Amino acid sequence: QVTEGMKSLQETDEKYLWHAMKGASANPSNLIINKAEGAWVTDINGNRYLDGMSGLWCVNVGYGRKELAKAAYEQLEEMPYFPLTQSHIPAIKLAEKLNEWLGGDYVIFFSNSGSEANETAFKIARQYHQQKGDYARYKFISRYRAYHGNSMGALAATGQAQRKYKYEPLGQGFLHVAPPDTYRNPEDINTLSSAREIDRVMTWELSQTVAGVIMEPIITGGGILMPPDLYMAKVKEICEDHGALLICDEVICGFGRTGKPFGFMNYGVQPDIITMAKGLTSAYLPLSATAVKREIYEAYMGSEDYDRFRHVNTFGGNPAACALALKNLEIIENENLIERSRELGERLLVELEDVKEHPNVGDIRGKGLLLGIEFVKNKQTKEPIEITKINQVINRCKEKGLIVGKNGDTVAGYNNILQLSPPLSITEEDFMFIVKTLKESIAQL
Ligand code: PMP
Repeated sequence: QVTEGMKSLQETDEKYLWHAMKGASANPSNLIINKAEGAWVTDINGNRYLDGMSGLWCVNVGYGRKELAKAAYEQLEEMPYFPLTQSHIPAIKLAEKLNEWLGGDYVIFFSNSGSEANETAFKIARQYHQQKGDYARYKFISRYRAYHGNSMGALAATGQAQRKYKYEPLGQGFLHVAPPDTYRNPEDINTLSSAREIDRVMTWELSQTVAGVIMEPIITGGGILMPPDLYMAKVKEICEDHGALLICDEVICGFGRTGKPFGFMNYGVQPDIITMAKGLTSAYLPLSATAVKREIYEAYMGSEDYDRFRHVNTFGGNPAACALALKNLEIIENENLIERSRELGERLLVELEDVKEHPNVGDIRGKGLLLGIEFVKNKQTKEPIEITKINQVINRCKEKGLIVGKNGDTVAGYNNILQLSPPLSITEEDFMFIVKTLKESIAQL
């Protein structure tokens, strides 16, 4: 009878739910999960998996945190909703707390998703230039392979044509440059030519038409692309030279994932605008934020009423999500999860050192608990491995109880980078399980 029940759940799911990426090769099957604790999720058939992809959805503190549920519940009882055209205590406290985390003087606009946080950033940046009388600045530059969201502006900024071409025309004025890729172009570490390309594009486009650059510190969805250490600082310098703003998308890199509170902190820069989302609440509730340097915010003040920022987000910064986020940040601080991410990330690279000898492993890279393993046919030519082969590794991991994913440059014809990003709260036992499972699954290739 139980089996009957499960079967019908699967059938109902199949019939009525339009899953994200349904049918895409990147997402061949659905797991129906109904329990989750720590780093582990359990499906309706009782199979347990360590969620080695939770970094993508940013369940950074792990599943089953009763304190988070309680914080949201208590806030819902106390005061469930009031819009942020007015104000409420959880949003005030969270905005103040985020300032501590950001290491600068920022004013916070709340939304619900990463896409909205980026849309908000684009609107703020464009209008900021106008507030200063700079009416021609509307263009944004981003990198191929980067993902910035699903809405018409955030998708326009995204550098993955496979996600875009059926929905064009998207938001106007978005340009792309090649991303840094220190595995395939190691000379970039010294020449910073990928950063210099941004300078050339701004010059060719005319500086006075460029509003800003948006980038993740490390491109995550496009294949864990590690920039040269000096890349981001160079881009910031270029932005300043051309009068453009640097927007940093911390939707995945933020909140400890890369071993620092925010990813940009690995690279010694302080962006003008910072966007963040799921990691704010460890994905327990929808909440996102666009943090804006005070001088940008101040350019809006003192103008005519109808010139102010005419942008509203009904659910953005709702009290329960803000209360939960405050508790989430407290857990990260109290349990030293940022330090733990850095330390475990370093250990992971050491533990996997011998895996590099495998003839199909071209590169192993990452920062904190964000890891990419690039599989190739041939180490000299770096020709990407066939998708069926990397799928074998991913399926073996899954059979052994570890969920990992893959991505890369789909448009260029390969999807050869295995991605691992478990909760930052994994136990020592979980860590050793990940190392063992990855090693065994790769050895079988
Ligand atoms: N930016 C980055 C870097 C992302 O990874 C994502 C989502 N994975 C987004 C933006 C969009 O976030 P959301 O799905 O919450 O709109």
